[in-house]
Amino acid sequence: MDKIQVKNPIVEMDGDEMTRVLWAWIKEKLILPYLDIDLKYYDLGLKKRDETEDRITHEAANAIAKYGVGVKCATITPDESRMSEYDLHKQWRSPNGTIRGILDGTVFRKPIMVKNITPFVSSWTKPIVIGRHAYGDVYKAIDFKVPGAGKVEVTYTPEDGGEPVTYQIHEFKDSGVVMGMHNTDKSIRSFARACIAMALSEKINLWFGAKDTISKVYHTRWKEIFAEEVEKRKADFEAAGIDYEYYLIDNAIAQAMKYEGGMLWACRNYDGDVFSDMLASGFGSLGMMTSVLVTPDGKFEYEAAHGTVQRHYYQHLDGKTTSTNPVASIFAWTGALRKRGELDETPELMHFADTLERSVLELIEAGFVTKDLAALVTPKATEFQTSENFIEGIRRKLEENLGQQPLQAKAS
Ligand code: NAP
Ligand code: MG
Repeated sequence: MDKIQVKNPIVEMDGDEMTRVLWAWIKEKLILPYLDIDLKYYDLGLKKRDETEDRITHEAANAIAKYGVGVKCATITPDESRMSEYDLHKQWRSPNGTIRGILDGTVFRKPIMVKNITPFVSSWTKPIVIGRHAYGDVYKAIDFKVPGAGKVEVTYTPEDGGEPVTYQIHEFKDSGVVMGMHNTDKSIRSFARACIAMALSEKINLWFGAKDTISKVYHTRWKEIFAEEVEKRKADFEAAGIDYEYYLIDNAIAQAMKYEGGMLWACRNYDGDVFSDMLASGFGSLGMMTSVLVTPDGKFEYEAAHGTVQRHYYQHLDGKTTSTNPVASIFAWTGALRKRGELDETPELMHFADTLERSVLELIEAGFVTKDLAALVTPKATEFQTSENFIEGIRRKLEENLGQQPLQAKAS
């Protein structure tokens, strides 16, 4: 069988530690043997970021803007201990933060579901995709203690020389606390657009929740902007056969707990912080959670939601085998490949991505799993695979599903 021709490039970003090791195996065993693909390679490993004074991260982000689709390995966000471990010139910013800053995108998390792992919430039979507005509110607030009786006010002073306006927050009779927070129409609008792009891409209903009955101006602003942006894309929603639903946030959570899933839940910053962790543990394992950055103008960058799995990497460096789960990283690849196929209108590439995913799921459903899943599957797995064995198992399944001779046999 000939390799599948991939019409346009995908931006590939390499990373750190155990996920970098898995990355190379995934590419060698599951991607390159099957695809004739132009990968625009950026090494975002910490060493390279330090050598290039982080220029490489900026270049990668610009490449995603140019080509529209990227796939990224997990990377270290350096802290104090990494400064000495890697002898860094500077404590470089998180690559994900830098890329998101350049592309102005929203991150969505999506769990990978298999039949033999039941989510803790038994009604969830389809993935719940969650998107968090990662700007403003409590995360960019000014707060302070009020020591005793006194008045707290906020004043808006227009830049154009108009009259300042003052609002009283509270007249304190005694000590207390105060917080002043903000958001911008621009940021809310680009969040709404990214959520719409993602819902259309996945062809799933879009939910948005806020508390506009109580926060009649602040929360209502999100509701208004979402409604405006959805209205602009009405024809696309109809074509995709999906709906937009606004809920009061407390109703949204009540509905989500008894719903079957299969929707995109757009969350304001704090709600997203809280609910994304609830969903992640509700669905099972970090090793089974993917993440995608979607920009308001529809560029996509796929990755695993977990980090570089540092503890396993030190074992690997010690010469020990590890049982690190490569599934979320594999699904980052399949997400990017399917999107590339969709944009290029190459159904054979989309079919390959589907087949690779199916091969992974079938293997897990047959009880062939890494250590993190061994206790989660029903029936419990009595043994678990090393990462290498697991990836080799996927390769064999993939060959079977693609209906071709094992490549090794063909080569010899
Ligand atoms: P982590 O890499 O997510 O791993 C934390 C723990 O979760 C692991 O020790 C492991 O538990 C379990 N785990 C995560 N992914 C797994 C997988 N694929 N298979 C099996 N088990 C898995 O978080 P971390 O160790 O706190 O962070 C390491 C580095 O990752 C940090 O430098 C951080 O900056 C970076 N990070 C990067 C990203 C990103 O690039 N998107 C995201 C988060 C963190 P056990 O030890 O119990 O086996
Ligand atoms: Mg959180």
